[in-house]
Amino acid sequence: MQITRFPVFDPNSPLLERPTANLAGFRAQAQPMLEEVRIGGDAAVRRLVQRFDKPLSDMPLELSSADISAAAGKLPLELKVAIRQAYNNIRAFHLSQCETVNVVETQPGVRCWRRSTPIDKVGLYVPGGSAPLFSTALMLGVPAQIAGCEEVVLCTPAQDDLLPHPAVLYAASLCGITRIFRIGGVQAIGAMAYGTESVPKVWKIFGPGNRWVTAAKQLVSLDGVAIDMVAGPSEVAVVADASADPAAVAADLLSQAEHGADSQVLLLCTDELLLQKIQTELDSQLSVLPRRELAAGALQQSQAILVQNTAEAMDWVNAYAPEHLILQTADAAHLASQVRNAGSVFLGHLTPESAGDYASGTNHTLPTGGYARSGAGVSLDSFVKKITFQEITREGLQNLAPTVTTMARAEGLEAHARAVEVRSSREFGVRSLEVGIGVAENILNDLVRENIRLLKPYSSARDEFKAGNSELQTPNSELRTPNTELSFLDANENSLGGPWKRYPDARQHELKHSVGQLKGVAPEQIFLGNGSDEAIDLLMRVFVEPGRDNIILMPPTYGMYAVQAGIHGAAVRKAPLRTDFSPDVEAVRQATDEHSKLLFICSPNNPSGNRIPDGFVEDVLKFFPGLVVVDEAYIDFSDKPSWLTRLSQHPRLVVLQTFSKAWGLAGLRIGMAFAHPTVIGALDKIKYPYNLSSANIGLLFEALGKKKVVDEQVKTLLAERRRLETELSKLPLVEKVFPSDANFLLVRVRDAAKVYQYLIGQGIVVRRRDGELHCENGLRITVGTPEENTNLLQALKEIGIRSIDHDFLNPQPQL
Ligand code: PMP
Repeated sequence: MQITRFPVFDPNSPLLERPTANLAGFRAQAQPMLEEVRIGGDAAVRRLVQRFDKPLSDMPLELSSADISAAAGKLPLELKVAIRQAYNNIRAFHLSQCETVNVVETQPGVRCWRRSTPIDKVGLYVPGGSAPLFSTALMLGVPAQIAGCEEVVLCTPAQDDLLPHPAVLYAASLCGITRIFRIGGVQAIGAMAYGTESVPKVWKIFGPGNRWVTAAKQLVSLDGVAIDMVAGPSEVAVVADASADPAAVAADLLSQAEHGADSQVLLLCTDELLLQKIQTELDSQLSVLPRRELAAGALQQSQAILVQNTAEAMDWVNAYAPEHLILQTADAAHLASQVRNAGSVFLGHLTPESAGDYASGTNHTLPTGGYARSGAGVSLDSFVKKITFQEITREGLQNLAPTVTTMARAEGLEAHARAVEVRSSREFGVRSLEVGIGVAENILNDLVRENIRLLKPYSSARDEFKAGNSELQTPNSELRTPNTELSFLDANENSLGGPWKRYPDARQHELKHSVGQLKGVAPEQIFLGNGSDEAIDLLMRVFVEPGRDNIILMPPTYGMYAVQAGIHGAAVRKAPLRTDFSPDVEAVRQATDEHSKLLFICSPNNPSGNRIPDGFVEDVLKFFPGLVVVDEAYIDFSDKPSWLTRLSQHPRLVVLQTFSKAWGLAGLRIGMAFAHPTVIGALDKIKYPYNLSSANIGLLFEALGKKKVVDEQVKTLLAERRRLETELSKLPLVEKVFPSDANFLLVRVRDAAKVYQYLIGQGIVVRRRDGELHCENGLRITVGTPEENTNLLQALKEIGIRSIDHDFLNPQPQL
């Protein structure tokens, strides 16, 4: 061995160099032979076997079942027992690699999973050559058997009796292999790759071999046949400290060296004295080895490196990436955790590589030549394909559609987007996209008031940094010491302050991402504000020119639209709902002119509680020149789908939602607007930079993790709504309970003012809506807790008992 003492560690050191295996010459020789087999089939195989091995005369290429079963009788009992034991251990270890199918719901209604499926046809090559590698038959045959490959073909050269070694046959039959061919070398690889009259064509070829075999595997892998790996000369690295037994270290080194003169052996030793003893041991053990010449040749080119400690030894090991690594050290278990690159690792003084070569259970077909840096040895995985599956439900399609269509269009792949939309349009009754994305941007931009179009959006250096487009990302390296945290002295915050000292993220990056996940909408299509009320305010500011433009409302509806219109100098035009609260397209059409910028459709509607039919929204989207705002504050209480899924089809559509209702977070003040990125961009331009506080953002993140609780609460509230509906309808003073898709009921009573006063007397506050269009004697009652609802019903029943016209006229206020 060549000894180097305490070299400075260098991952590119010549000490770690392997001889470069130039296979080009071997490929040049193998190529015509493969071609001969591809064209000539069995006859060509026979010719090549005769030329390179021995003449088979008229012997069939395939072994008979009698040939295979006779093998057992030719083996000594102890070898058969040993092979069986090895088979059992290898089987046990590879069985543990079976994977269970794990179905993951990546988002509601989108289920993905992966299933290992056997490769139907595999070919195993077991070399004859200098040693009959029956252990290889086990190492390849066992995982093929566990994987359930339908056809397993084994090629191995014959010996003098024109049969393969009986131990190879015995091992193969344990693995259930019945198709065995007496073919070795390049012709075996060609026969399995292309198929002949008697050898079946396979999809993947496994097994070691000489350089011609390796070259042939490389060549057929260019022809559509997979191979397990490109195997090179075998390798071992041994790390030994003072606790190691020099005889055991020497034996491990020799066990590798005896494979052949090109075998690679690397010793990393922390102790000079031990190194000398190993040398002595090597000399004495070598002299009695049958394959001493091969081993001596390998040892001559091998390296022994004296290192300071085991940590340094591991640096050398990881840089070299050995096929086998033996850790004969006192701290082997600790060192194991430092292994980054190796094929298979043997820990402690009692674990020789030979155990893994034959019988402990791990596979001995391992990456050589440095491939252990990037790949693993043969395992059950090598014999299966991992096929992925997915299934999307109606809900899943609704949630995922906007993400996919947005991404597809951003990549310019319109057909991809349509493959989603054709389904959602069938499911959710939507026409296909009329307006291209570029066209939409222009139209929307034209709708934005000019002074706002010209405004630059607020952006701090930190925002730019987070968005990944600031010079902070690539600091002038000579000005900034590496690994220092950025020091923010740009916003006049109190740098001594506590957790709230920083201004919040003006762009609300992460929160938009999470809300996007929840709603199935891209972050660029989301505005977050101080309640959806802020969105209503900002929509007016962006799109309404005071004194010139108008908005269209469909009363009775949510009061804030008119309030904001008044504040922003927008004329309000009315297209009233009919007496049954259904919308009137013609009324909208008549109210609309070229200055109509916003049409508010509250659905479910406040105060009537009904959903505005989708067909109506579709109709107005066709002619309305401004934005159609569908306010879905109460959507979570409705069993009909949201308009969110249709955002990408309708650039003029704005959907409002809120965390104030179903999510039970009215006190947080967080609402959402969803729209085309151009609309959202304009809203974000003019909002206060920090319209959501860090506290609110944090609390919302927390709440988003509790969707299940919210779903349960909504279920309970819906059950309570049904109960109230039924029970209220039975009361004599109730004239009508209007059907509701929200968490409130509009109820027409005999005398709203009196009932309202009476309920206040009972400590119950409801909302008078009797001044609204079509809401004569209307009270709007929010669905409360089960107890509150029971109390309400009880109070209203008592009115009936006390006589409607007398007692409750003079209530005793209890508030
Ligand atoms: N839209 C409708 C229809 C509402 O009823 C309400 C509140 N009652 C809002 C929007 C405003 O909700 P928030 O500002 O709390 O998000």
